[in-house]
Amino acid sequence: MKTEHWEPPDWKKQFGFIREMRSSRDAPVDSMGAEKCYDPEAPAHVRRFQVLVSLMLSSQTKDQVTAAAMQNLRAHGCTVENILATDEKTLGKLIYPVGFWRNKVNYLKLTSAMLQKEFGGDIPNCVEELVRLPGVGPKMAHLAMNIAWDQVSGIGVDTHVHRIANRLGWLRKPAKNPEETRKALEEWLPRELWREINWLLVGFGQQVCLPINPLCSVCLNQHSCPSAHKSSPPKKPTVGSPHSPSPSPSFKVKTEPGQETVDRDERTKMESLPTTVFPTTQRRRQKNKVNH
Ligand code: SF4
Repeated sequence: MKTEHWEPPDWKKQFGFIREMRSSRDAPVDSMGAEKCYDPEAPAHVRRFQVLVSLMLSSQTKDQVTAAAMQNLRAHGCTVENILATDEKTLGKLIYPVGFWRNKVNYLKLTSAMLQKEFGGDIPNCVEELVRLPGVGPKMAHLAMNIAWDQVSGIGVDTHVHRIANRLGWLRKPAKNPEETRKALEEWLPRELWREINWLLVGFGQQVCLPINPLCSVCLNQHSCPSAHKSSPPKKPTVGSPHSPSPSPSFKVKTEPGQETVDRDERTKMESLPTTVFPTTQRRRQKNKVNH
């Protein structure tokens, strides 16, 4: 049976405006995201491992903190062999204060052991195998495929992509969690934009479309966004703190994006206090073309 193609009416224009707002590339993700945290001089399999490690450390953690932890790990030697040879206490000191650092020390150890045993010290090159690794969920797996293997397997939907896609009405019906959002976006968004959308919306979410009190008055999409100038949802209680050395009992082995929404929203709010929003001079109207 033929299914009717659906797409949001204004998405191309809105996508173009977000590109414009992101043109200065000065959000935290632009300089400290997983694409910037690996050693470009390292052998390919080590680079891929470091991409995976930075993604594992990044959940519920500010980009600045993840970048600092990766710097420590790289100085120590961020390879599968070296992580396995390093005791947990030392690893903890190296990555502290990333969110849930104790759990992540365990995940790093378990994942490294699995990579050495089953994948010859490299990371697997498919989503199905990546999500078998302790501490790796679908979002990380798709981002790892993209960054480490240069393959687009799916859209990496974190809390920013999830929130903004819902706010802009880019989903036929509101999605409850990032996995639902990923599937709904992949139904209509042209595949050639799957890689770009994560980077685009994460930075946009860090600087303009904030989790709490989005800066709608400076947003180029304020006239077409169904959520513009609506009050933000009330603050929900957080479970644990990204900055607390105490592990939270609610921390799940699989860091599915949907499980971390509340905490990440909170940490995003902290990291994204806008020091620089795109300059007024850059708010020139573009032709709103989406290249595909
Ligand atoms: S108008 Fe407001 S809610 Fe809508 S995309 Fe812009 S910042 Fe986000």
